[in-house]
Amino acid sequence: MYNSSEENIITNLKQREKKGILLTFDDGPSKYINRFLDILAEEEVTGLFFWQSRLLHHKRPWERLLEDGHMIGAHSHSHPNLTNLDFNQQMNEIQKSKQMIEGITGQSVRYFRPPFGQYNQDTLEVLAKLELEMVMWDISSFDWNLKQEPNQIIENVMNHVQDGSILLLHELEQTLQILPTLIKKLKEKGCHFSRL
Ligand SMILES: [Zn+2]
Repeated sequence: MYNSSEENIITNLKQREKKGILLTFDDGPSKYINRFLDILAEEEVTGLFFWQSRLLHHKRPWERLLEDGHMIGAHSHSHPNLTNLDFNQQMNEIQKSKQMIEGITGQSVRYFRPPFGQYNQDTLEVLAKLELEMVMWDISSFDWNLKQEPNQIIENVMNHVQDGSILLLHELEQTLQILPTLIKKLKEKGCHFSRL
């Protein structure tokens, strides 16, 4: 990861003087999105979804997602490692994702998360030009690696979560499987769920 002390990179809600925790879900919109929305609605919890615009077909339930109080951020168009791209290539990837999401939803996109959490100085300059804020995380669930051991996703979060934490999750089957339990445990611990 590019080592930066930039204050405008959000990794924890306390930077915005907010309390609570934020659930973020990368790499959708996936075929599981409606089931994620069902669970979140059932638990009355909102999250921030970072979508790859190449996956954003008109049939994806972005309307319901916004109506339910969630937010959509950009996660590039085709999910490259941005550090392998020059400034103009990065601009194309990021601008395209912002414009496609805005074109479909009619709402402005304010937040961006780089694929693989990888970025460099060019990325920060592109984001400044596009008026996007970078949102990273302070708690990784490592859910992408835990298809065989989904309960470990819960452990990875519960062992480290604290007030202000931003949680990295993905629109994956194993994450869907443990999400109701994870939310219940977070509630038992006294966490409340926040927005950016
Ligand atoms: Zn991703």
